Amino acid sequence: MSDLSRRTLLAGAAATAGLAAAGTSRRPARAAARTRIPVTRSEERVVIVGSGFGGGVTALRFAQAGVRCLVLERGVWWRTGPNAETFPHATSPDKRMFWLGSTPTIFGISADPFEHYTGLLEQVPGNGMDMIVAAGVGGGSLIYQGMSLQPSESVFNATLPERLDYARMDSVYYRRVARMLRLQTAPDELVGSTTYKPARMFAADVRRAGYTVEKIPMPIDWSYALRELKGEMKPSYTNGDCALGVNNGGKHSVDVTYIAAAQATGLVTVATQHNVTDVAMAPDGRWEVHADRIGTDGTVLEKKIITAQALVMAAGTAGTTRLLMRASAKGAIPDMPDGLGSGWGSNGDRIYVWTDFADDFGVPQGGPVVYGSKEWDDPATANTVIQASLPPLPVNLRSTMIVGYGVSAGRGRFVYDSRKDDAVLQWPKGADDPLYRRIDERVTRITGSSSMLVDTTGAYPSTWHPLGGASMGTVCDLSGRVAGHRGLYVLDGALLPGTTAACNPSMTIAAVAERATDDLVANDAGTVF
Ligand SMILES: Cc1cc2nc3c(=O)[nH]c(=O)nc-3n(C[C@H](O)[C@H](O)[C@H](O)COP(=O)(O)OP(=O)(O)OC[C@H]3O[C@@H](n4cnc5c(N)ncnc54)[C@H](O)[C@@H]3O)c2cc1C
Repeated sequence: MSDLSRRTLLAGAAATAGLAAAGTSRRPARAAARTRIPVTRSEERVVIVGSGFGGGVTALRFAQAGVRCLVLERGVWWRTGPNAETFPHATSPDKRMFWLGSTPTIFGISADPFEHYTGLLEQVPGNGMDMIVAAGVGGGSLIYQGMSLQPSESVFNATLPERLDYARMDSVYYRRVARMLRLQTAPDELVGSTTYKPARMFAADVRRAGYTVEKIPMPIDWSYALRELKGEMKPSYTNGDCALGVNNGGKHSVDVTYIAAAQATGLVTVATQHNVTDVAMAPDGRWEVHADRIGTDGTVLEKKIITAQALVMAAGTAGTTRLLMRASAKGAIPDMPDGLGSGWGSNGDRIYVWTDFADDFGVPQGGPVVYGSKEWDDPATANTVIQASLPPLPVNLRSTMIVGYGVSAGRGRFVYDSRKDDAVLQWPKGADDPLYRRIDERVTRITGSSSMLVDTTGAYPSTWHPLGGASMGTVCDLSGRVAGHRGLYVLDGALLPGTTAACNPSMTIAAVAERATDDLVANDAGTVF
């Protein structure tokens, strides 16, 4: 626990001034009814901002090496178990879906009228491309479908620094992540059941189109889905009601794997509803973190200033990059590398609604994902196409979802806007068009002439897979050390140079963090922190 060294009270108006800063939504949370907000100072050995893949891996590996850490997470814990009602339902949205007033458009749902809440999803607006990111202990793993792919050696080496050493990544780090997340593919018994018809139709159509198809490794204990089939718990997987978190549990998300194991060491404290508003270099060279302890409606209850020997930025691509750019622009962290904010990539995300007039997918649809088709032979155009279930709709739209992603050449950059006091993504229109055309061509061939495809990403340019902004080789070394800044690290999607080699990002973010923390424990623990 933190050592409290000072406790003061500030007048309300001054204290609420930081409410709309980076990490909260653009709309300020409701002004605190209180007139005085306590300010607390404390000291820590290591502070980790964010509890997703990067933050979870770091907390566990540092703690196992005996390093005490404080994890600051802006969101809440989402505890699940058979028949729980923890997560919201995509078909009946409520405040739990949205981060403090942000209204992301996801699965065609855009919701405005809800009370502000420390909910799951935030839309981070960019110029030409928005990012959809998650909040809560476990970060994106709470609401991700869980597709956990490891890149092939050739695509990895063509898109990521070869010095990461694919052979070692393969034999040590990807395997470590796969073990932690207990990856499994869906059993045939489940795939053969009624509601998994869309998966079977997709697999058949992929083969008919001349492509290969395979099951995708998922961090799921599929026995939960089989128990749903037997009526032992209400549907969550088998009716596709898992797009915003799996209420029944059985999903090995970061909160119940890495974070739980980190806490079990006794050396990790996870402070939830702690929204980091600023990071800075302290006069003595240590790192200063300003965090608001917030209520679930965003009200600031306490302002904390925490000084640490090491600061690990793991707030996700959008969170980490924007916090560092604000600090740099305002001189709070001097001499940041010039490349900060550059090299951002979308991972080539493309989401389609697929309507088949010849056959009926049926409703509801079992989820989240069973099959995918990889086209990885040429690293320049490598891409993956998968089918994902629609949430359980009251009407049969004869539709399901197809998602593509791949090696995207386009790169955007964040630019600090002093009026907004925020760094905003600038995306060059059309930058990923060659990859999109390749994905379009494949998806059109797979779905065939009796189908209609609606390209939702074309209508609303956005990505679920933002990567880069404080990339390795430009801003950081391969282990996330920010160049020229002792004790400052980036260990999340921001470290990856704009792509994860035709795969969804989580496996590579976690494996790179596993590799990095081995290095940091061996070489920085005990000297730098
Ligand atoms: C709908 C959806 C589906 C997806 N499906 C897949 C999939 O199937 N497979 C896959 O590999 N990837 C998928 N992804 C992407 C994946 O979730 C992300 O790539 C991954 O979570 C990024 O990991 P990270 O460690 O960089 O950050 P995150 O997991 O985003 O974690 C960052 C954490 O930092 C916290 N944070 C942010 N700002 C602050 C702040 N100011 N103060 C305190 N805390 C803060 C956030 O609340 C969050 O918990 C999906 C994403 C979405 C949105």
